[in-house]
Amino acid sequence: MKKSFAVIGLGRFGGSVTRNLIESGQEVLAIDSTEERVNEYMNIATHAVVANAQDENTLRSLGIRNFDTVVVAIGEDIQASILTTLMVKEMGVANVWAKAQNDYHARVLEKIGADRVVHPERDMGKRIAHRLVARNLLDYLELSEKFSMAEIKVQKSKFVNQTLEKLNLTGRFGVNVAAIRRSNGVVELAHSSSVVHEGDNLLVLGETRDVEHLDEKI
Ligand code: ATP
Repeated sequence: MKKSFAVIGLGRFGGSVTRNLIESGQEVLAIDSTEERVNEYMNIATHAVVANAQDENTLRSLGIRNFDTVVVAIGEDIQASILTTLMVKEMGVANVWAKAQNDYHARVLEKIGADRVVHPERDMGKRIAHRLVARNLLDYLELSEKFSMAEIKVQKSKFVNQTLEKLNLTGRFGVNVAAIRRSNGVVELAHSSSVVHEGDNLLVLGETRDVEHLDEKI
């Protein structure tokens, strides 16, 4: 079943979330207090409305409580972001994602019940920094403060032409291999009998320090 999304705030972040949800075939109500912004999304979002999300009656009349997920993508106006998140949560929306401008803002959003707080600039900065310093790491995703997922290129000959069972990366490095991207781009789910070939990338999951350690060795 399709989920329903409402995105409040159509800056670069909220706008990108809206476009990508629509591209994935989802229905999106796009809300912004600026008419100009809303006009930009008239032909993109399922519905686009000019509204001040800080106004409780407005949120009610938009039927916000009926949405499965609401993304509060207001950045600069921290008060508006906090108040909107609080009201949307109080109205009973089960899944509320909110964008934080800084760490204090993030803490408040978490306290008032945001189900997920995102920090796009900080998260992207971290991701890019990891890619800059890493040797064989092609992509990196922080799953939590402790855990990461990464795509790592196999470089050393001692790691190729062996099964995952034999390589025992879980025992030796503490990471789990979830999938293998073959040199022709095809992704295969990893099994203990999967053989690693030259030019393959491993999609691994583990504690960030273990993933980084594997990146140095592989
Ligand atoms: P980005 O970095 O994603 O471009 P930002 O962090 O600079 O965005 P803002 O530009 O402050 O965030 O806010 C994003 C959008 O939220 C703006 O288009 C703004 O008009 C809208 N917005 C701000 N306050 C409200 C509100 N109370 N109700 C609805 N929309 C709002």
